[in-house]
Amino acid sequence: MNLEAILDGVRADVSGHIGEGKVADYIPALAKVDPSKFGMAIVTVDGDAFTIGDAAEPFSIQSVSKVFTLTLALGRVGEGLWKRVGREPSGTPFNSIVQLEQEHGIPRNPFINAGAIVVADTLLSGHEPRETLGEVLSFMRHISGDEGIVIDREVARSEQQTGFRNAALANYMFSFSNIHNPVEKTLGVYFHQCALSLSCIQLAKAGLFLANNGKLGGSNHSVVSAERARRINALMLTCGHYDASGDFAFRVGLPGKSGVGGGILAIAPGRAAIAVWSPGLNANGNSATGTRALESLARRTGWSIFG
Ligand code: GLU
Repeated sequence: MNLEAILDGVRADVSGHIGEGKVADYIPALAKVDPSKFGMAIVTVDGDAFTIGDAAEPFSIQSVSKVFTLTLALGRVGEGLWKRVGREPSGTPFNSIVQLEQEHGIPRNPFINAGAIVVADTLLSGHEPRETLGEVLSFMRHISGDEGIVIDREVARSEQQTGFRNAALANYMFSFSNIHNPVEKTLGVYFHQCALSLSCIQLAKAGLFLANNGKLGGSNHSVVSAERARRINALMLTCGHYDASGDFAFRVGLPGKSGVGGGILAIAPGRAAIAVWSPGLNANGNSATGTRALESLARRTGWSIFG
């Protein structure tokens, strides 16, 4: 398959749509991002990389980070994590609080904000926030094979100053004893993990283990077991795009995780990891042109988990 030619085709398909959607402005530092940015990277399980557009420019991965903190938390606490967070699609927006009351402070899944805050809390237990963030950062550098990955402190600060809803979620869960550390410390970890800054190339490399039976690209080194990789992919498919997860599965047919920075990581099991970035978001908070580009890529490659 000529992935270079396929990417040129994708570019042609989306060229009239670049800049569509609305850049997230509830985090002031994200509102400054140029909406006309567009990049895409494919890294195959053989380690070949193909890119178009602004694929080498770092952006705020925001909620895509939840895939990686979930991986770390499962490594730390194993299946016990599922006592504190569910694994059902929520059908509600990323920062919704309504289900939490009915479900006694147990978030529906690890990819809505409440669930990711619980995951951050499990990573924090027994550590100081600085140590936990150091662990997240070294994990990202290890799985991407790139020591250059950093956390954008300005984005983290900006979110900290305006993160009232996330603070509400965390305090609410604390009242149900589902946050075990001081709320400000747990939120500090969460805001900083969301502020991880990666390019499409770095992100596709970091996600490759999910396409490669849990192993690092081009090596036999396991990040997680094949079964765990499959399960993380299942959660990405069912919960990775908030209340638009069904629509993403319908249009793209691959597990994917979006972030309000306009990035999406998609996994074609056994073939490749794909990262796309286009900052304009649709009404559900997912990259508008990024989703369109993945839809075009899936059609052109025939990659789908549905046959
Ligand atoms: N840091 C963002 C928030 O908590 C993440 C949301 C997202 O990327 O969907 O509001």
